[in-house]
Amino acid sequence: MAKTPETEHPVKAFGWAARDNSGTLSPFNFSRRDTGERDVQFKVLYCGVCHSGLHMVKNEWGVTHYPVVPGHEIVGVVTEVGSKVEKVKAGDKVGVGVIVGSCRQCDQCSNDLENYCSKQILTYGAPYIDGTITRGGYSNIMVADEHFIIRWPENLPLDAGAPLLCAGITTYSPLRYYGLDKPGLSVGVNGLGGLGHVAVKFAKAFGTKVTVISTSLGKKKEAIEHLGVDEFLVSSDPQQMQAAVGTLDGIIDTVSAEHPLVPLMSLLKPHGKLIVVGAPEKPLQLHAFSLIQGRKTVAGSAIGGMKETQEMIDFAAKKNIIPDVEVIPIDYINTAMDRLLKSDVKYRFVIDVNKSFNAH
Ligand code: NAP
Ligand code: ZN
Repeated sequence: MAKTPETEHPVKAFGWAARDNSGTLSPFNFSRRDTGERDVQFKVLYCGVCHSGLHMVKNEWGVTHYPVVPGHEIVGVVTEVGSKVEKVKAGDKVGVGVIVGSCRQCDQCSNDLENYCSKQILTYGAPYIDGTITRGGYSNIMVADEHFIIRWPENLPLDAGAPLLCAGITTYSPLRYYGLDKPGLSVGVNGLGGLGHVAVKFAKAFGTKVTVISTSLGKKKEAIEHLGVDEFLVSSDPQQMQAAVGTLDGIIDTVSAEHPLVPLMSLLKPHGKLIVVGAPEKPLQLHAFSLIQGRKTVAGSAIGGMKETQEMIDFAAKKNIIPDVEVIPIDYINTAMDRLLKSDVKYRFVIDVNKSFNAH
């Protein structure tokens, strides 16, 4: 008889899962593997709520296997380490982001780009090397190979820092790679959500001038006064968009839903770069002339490798780059997902996993 999620592994675990494409999450008993010799087991304290989780629970990308336990901005305290683990010890604070495995041999892995390994294993909803399906951080206990464990800086808060593990690295990496990290450059951020607001913080820390392009006029005041945004364009206002044509060296596009690219291309200076990190379910459309005229580039980026993720976390801790979060109990998650869909969060929900699951 096939083993059930509760019995396939020896370690009992508890989380919340979606069972079908309604995306509704509810309590779920499952199990985790024993701590292998290179594994780190930890008690989950907080987990961020990324829009990718919302795409996944609703099967918007067509790759979801149910039940799915989301969560890939996971922080906690180490409870047990395998005999060969060198990176951390019991009691240390750690994090796990979007991937928990890769081949560790290919060109990408050899260059610290595990995030571009064709055999990368996502933190939840993916087949693991032992044939089981990975489960994410909307759960009380986590286990991962030490290579995919991030050491948590002492001065970085666990709750507000958690979103750096996905939103942070997904915006830090392209700002660096595409050279949009030089003081004096003008950088646009399309969509002021979880990824977008962290992009603003990194871009400001790099000394760039930051323009937010947003559908939400309601976010303007706080963006300017609190996040230090230099310009705020409401994308539905043709006059504002026209006035900003040709002003940006690059744009990080974090929008999660279908949206036109041509107006964004117009905002770029000649030779400007539009970097897509948002992952809408429907294809994005582009007009050839918006690329040709001004020799512009459209490119993409996916999270970051483990070395760069650690570098980003250490940089954030040093520069005091801390996401703005709304901490919630797990039983608020379905309401939180509804609000996330409506862009109604400033700017990231983070689940207080410990309080929700362990503190009884
Ligand atoms: P989020 O918090 O929901 O932010 C997305 C923002 O996009 C919203 O706050 C909103 O900003 C804007 N937006 C939403 N619907 C829109 C529409 N119809 N038209 C124009 N703008 C719209 O989501 P997130 O967690 O930041 O994730 C953003 C996207 O990145 C998702 O698709 C996610 O799957 C993807 N992602 C990619 C990677 C990667 O490695 N490339 C990693 C993580 C996430 P305004 O209110 O300012 O308009
Ligand atoms: Zn994410």
